[in-house]
Amino acid sequence: CGIVGYIGQSAVQEILLSGLEKLEYRGYDSAGIFVVDKIGNSHLFREKGRIAELREVVDFDVPAQMGIGHTRWATHGVPSIANAHPHQSQDGRFTLVHNGVIENFQELKATYLPDVALTGNTDTEIVVNVIAHFAKNDALTTKEIFREALKVVKGSYAFALIDSKDPEILWAAKNKSPLLIGVGTDFHVVASDAMATIQLTDQYVEIHDGEMVQLTNTDFAIETVSGSVINRAPYKATVDA
Ligand code: GLU
Repeated sequence: CGIVGYIGQSAVQEILLSGLEKLEYRGYDSAGIFVVDKIGNSHLFREKGRIAELREVVDFDVPAQMGIGHTRWATHGVPSIANAHPHQSQDGRFTLVHNGVIENFQELKATYLPDVALTGNTDTEIVVNVIAHFAKNDALTTKEIFREALKVVKGSYAFALIDSKDPEILWAAKNKSPLLIGVGTDFHVVASDAMATIQLTDQYVEIHDGEMVQLTNTDFAIETVSGSVINRAPYKATVDA
C-alpha cells in the first residue's frame, strides 16, 4: 500500500502512476488516482488489480496540475473498484486517499453520518464523509474542517486530501503510517516513501505523527493537529535505485 500526491505544473497522471509503480513492492490489491485542474475540473480513475490495469483506464489528456494516487491493501471491505481509493464525500467536494486503519470508524459513522449512504465498505469512506460533515459549518476554512475531522479520527493514517473548492492546495496528515513531503522547484509532493518521487526531487521533509500539512506549488506549512506551527528543514534523501 502507498500514497503519492503532487501539486505543481506538469503531467500529473504520469507522475502519480510512476510513483505508484515504485511503491508496488509494498503490496496492494487495487489502485486509483484523482486529478484536478486549476479551475477545479476533476477526474477520478480507479481499478482493481495492477497499476498496469489502472493505466488503461486513465485519460492522460485531461489537464491537471494537482492529484493524489493510492495503492490499497484492503483492511475493511473486499478489493473492488467501489472500495478502491481515492474516496469521495457524498457531496463530491472532498477526495481522500488513506493508508492505515481507522479504529473508531463505526462510532464515527453512528455519530456523524447516520443519514449518509456509503457506496463502499471502507473505513476511509467514513473519514472523507466526516470531513464533509464538518464542512457543513460555512464559517470554517478547509484547514479548520480538516483539523476538526482529525481530532475525532482514531487509528493509523497517512492521508492526502483535495478540497475541490480550493484546487490550489493539497492537504496531508500522518499518524503511525509513513508519509513525507518532497520539495521541488515550483512543485511539492507527498509520498509514503521517497523512492516514489526521487526522480523529481531529492529534498524531503519529515511529517511527524499528529501533524497536518498544507502544500501549494511554492510553499509548504506544517502544524500539529492542536495548532502549533512546526518549522522543519528539508534533508537530502538518498535512495538505492
Ligand atoms: N483501511 C483502508 C482500506 O481498507 C486503507 C488500506 C491501506 O492502507 O491501503 O481501504
